[in-house]
Amino acid sequence: MAWQRRQLLQGGLASVATLFTAGTVAPRSAAAATTPADRALRQALSACRPSGDPLQALLAGNQRFAAAWQLSSGTALAAADRSARMAALWADTCQLDPAALARGQRPWAAVLACADARVSPEWIFDVGPGELFDVRSAGNTAFAEGIASLEYAVCQLQVPLIVVMGHQSCGAVTAALDTKPLTPLLEELVTPIRASLQSGDDLSLAIRHNASYAAGQLTGRSAVLREAVAAGKLTIQPLYFDLESGLTSVI
Ligand SMILES: [Zn+2]
Repeated sequence: MAWQRRQLLQGGLASVATLFTAGTVAPRSAAAATTPADRALRQALSACRPSGDPLQALLAGNQRFAAAWQLSSGTALAAADRSARMAALWADTCQLDPAALARGQRPWAAVLACADARVSPEWIFDVGPGELFDVRSAGNTAFAEGIASLEYAVCQLQVPLIVVMGHQSCGAVTAALDTKPLTPLLEELVTPIRASLQSGDDLSLAIRHNASYAAGQLTGRSAVLREAVAAGKLTIQPLYFDLESGLTSVI
């Protein structure tokens, strides 16, 4: 890894793309994108890609999800009815060709999200497989491995947007606010969350501050992500997901 790290720091965006070769169409390489087969694959993998602002596309998908989520809410609703209401949402969700996905990926946004079982990004943004590049850990912290994964998404897959999604009732942030003893590894997990907290934070504010802090860590710790933002090739946006309404909001 040592030589790769040197390459990342010395070469920036152009050279970092050469560090990765598998699992994608390689649109940054002119030679690789000129054959009819490559163009056909790129087209198939782009079938669900929004034509406009990717952040607005994510938020529009979330509006669709939230409407179905709210309709499905409540103990009075039978399980079959709840299933039918969510299925009605997914019936219209764009789906990429699995045969194309077996040969490559071309996600149009990346999400740094919590590992919480209730915050699956594809679900919340109403997208299918192959559209989002997900990095998840409890507390949506920007750990080194996660940042490296996002460097891959931006530099090799040309992802133009990273959202960092905090969420209502986050257990990791709750643990960071608490003083109960934790295992050594859980102490490591909450350390960066505690670094994000501000005096007087309640849980809701702490979750927002933690998501903003993690977003700042992406450019703070990664030269290539910082370079991509400066070059206008990447937007990084923290979001807050409200479990009750199903809605995300920009922080
Ligand atoms: Zn969480």
